[in-house]
Amino acid sequence: MNLILFGPPGCGKGTQAKKLVEGRGMVQLSTGDMLRAAIAAGSELGLKVKDIMARGDLVPDEIVIALIEERLPEAEASGGAIFDGFPRTVAQAQALDAMLEGRGKRIDRIIRLLVDEAELLARVTGRFEQQGRPDDNPETFKTRLAAYNAQTAPLLPYYERTGRTREVDGMGTMDEVAAAIAASLDEVQA
Ligand code: AMP
Repeated sequence: MNLILFGPPGCGKGTQAKKLVEGRGMVQLSTGDMLRAAIAAGSELGLKVKDIMARGDLVPDEIVIALIEERLPEAEASGGAIFDGFPRTVAQAQALDAMLEGRGKRIDRIIRLLVDEAELLARVTGRFEQQGRPDDNPETFKTRLAAYNAQTAPLLPYYERTGRTREVDGMGTMDEVAAAIAASLDEVQA
């Protein structure tokens, strides 16, 4: 099964993806994690994206599409992929559909995590204080949220057309949200 965890920065995509990896043997494909690893390694890719990410802007589509394409076989060989932070633009979503179609697969479920903006800001600020991720500072968070609203939220109608989108209240505890996601996935597999 291939799943997209969808929602703004701080809505819990990464946390919930990790729970699904533990529980279901799926593979988390987080483009944000891949890009941060490239920056930490000081690779050519890392150098290219460092300033863009520090500003809170989106990196070019072709970069993230290539990162995902590279990892699809591995995800397919396990329980499927959890796309976390990808796709973020309509072009990325179209590329993902084409890549999956070429492999005889599709996105089986899109879960939209609903969290209000005050809570997002509180979570990201907390993460900034604990982990020191530069783009979690409150100013950059505003840019990231604006990028979400302008470039990523328009994907919702794209996926709603498939009838495979479900909304989950992301304001509850980590375990409550995980239980709601699990119920939505069991419905796919039933
Ligand atoms: P994330 O960890 O998903 O919040 O991503 C952190 C940052 O990495 C974003 O603010 C973007 O600069 C970049 N990024 C991650 N995924 C993507 C994507 N799918 N498209 C464009 N930029 C991305």
